[in-house]
Amino acid sequence: MHDLSLERNPIEILETGRSISDIIDGKIRQLYSGSEEPFYVVNLDNILERHLQWISLLPRVKPFYAVKCNNTTAVLKMLSALDTGFDCASKAEIELALSLGVKPDDIIYAHTTKPLSHIRYACAHRVNLMTFDNEEELLKISLVHPQAKLVIRIAVDDSKSMVRLSPKFGARLPTVRQLLGRARELNLEVVGVSFHVGSGCTRSSAFRQAIEDARRVFDSVLGFQMRLLDIGGGFSKIGDFQEKFEEFSEVINGSLDEFFPPVSGLEVIAEPGRYYVESAFTLAVNVIAKRVVVEDRANKCRVMMYYINDGVYGSMSCITFDPAHMTSCAKKSEPRYCSVIWGPTCDSIDKITESYWIPELYVGDWLLVDNMGAYTVSVTTDFNSFEKAHIYTVVTAETWHSLNLSPHLYLTSLACCEYRVFCLLHCRMFSCF
Ligand code: PLP
Repeated sequence: MHDLSLERNPIEILETGRSISDIIDGKIRQLYSGSEEPFYVVNLDNILERHLQWISLLPRVKPFYAVKCNNTTAVLKMLSALDTGFDCASKAEIELALSLGVKPDDIIYAHTTKPLSHIRYACAHRVNLMTFDNEEELLKISLVHPQAKLVIRIAVDDSKSMVRLSPKFGARLPTVRQLLGRARELNLEVVGVSFHVGSGCTRSSAFRQAIEDARRVFDSVLGFQMRLLDIGGGFSKIGDFQEKFEEFSEVINGSLDEFFPPVSGLEVIAEPGRYYVESAFTLAVNVIAKRVVVEDRANKCRVMMYYINDGVYGSMSCITFDPAHMTSCAKKSEPRYCSVIWGPTCDSIDKITESYWIPELYVGDWLLVDNMGAYTVSVTTDFNSFEKAHIYTVVTAETWHSLNLSPHLYLTSLACCEYRVFCLLHCRMFSCF
């Protein structure tokens, strides 16, 4: 077990009877006099729940958490304490995982187009498992990491996913034999097959098809002892998907049993990102400015323009590349106005919602956005040098003790000030299908 305590960002205990809303409430009260900066509250118990569900529903599949999805130290420490592996995409991600005590054997360097110096770094730190999908990569690996254990990534049907990856990555099936032949010529060891059905996969049939495709690769391999199947990422539990995670896991288990029966001794891993962190993070942002614009003078049509202190160059970049949208949880009876919500930067791309019918907001109001764990904190930029949202982490004492973690915690104290909070941007939901 690893030590979950963080020197600079201590983790708070979520006392019995207190909720995440209470914690956010306390933070806003603390901030009220000094600052209105955006912040996240992370509920580590939520990550534990996801993990327990994963191991109960996908018992054959060891998760290697995709660090790119959210590289918050507390999250990585929590997952490491839960004995997951890690999918790293760069030297810096490998460095981060190793610095937290992750063993090199628990890392897969899952990027098929790696800089030479990063492969050299992986070699120097005994990170051996890595993916490839092209001949140039094999040449680089043979040059600086000839002992690597290679996993061939194949392109699969990702047309049912929010974010497609196969246009960029993955060997097409007809080229696989030739690539494996080249690996053999270079004396490299290929130990398995990987794929990624695309992030935010909406159809479990994509996994079934991809597992069948992987089987074909196993069948066509001559001379390699293939022993690993990596079913990638793409899992989610939120959003208006037609199928639930439970149904996905049934299809995955059935396909694994059909194409790779347990007697085959195959090791199965996955690279879930979104699944683990999406709902653990709640973001609180502040309305820092407001303009009322009269669009149609004859009809006196007013549009409210609100400016909040986090946007698409910050935590909400996911709006532009995940087809995500915000939805309001305001009471139906409240009067609503056509509103545009902008991020804080000097760029008009920095728009969070358009023609959004919500109750009137005022400067100083807080908006809470839930499900903000995936591809948010790890994607923020420094554009305009706005402060990045601070991350406060909480965990229940029960989880803390069950994981045998160290007791460096602090408790929040509440100041007493008045403020207004709207839980308006309540859900990140996926609207693609
Ligand atoms: N593995 C690889 C190689 C990826 O590119 C990604 C996401 O882009 C992931 C895993 C994580 O995917 P997800 O967050 O959809 O589970």
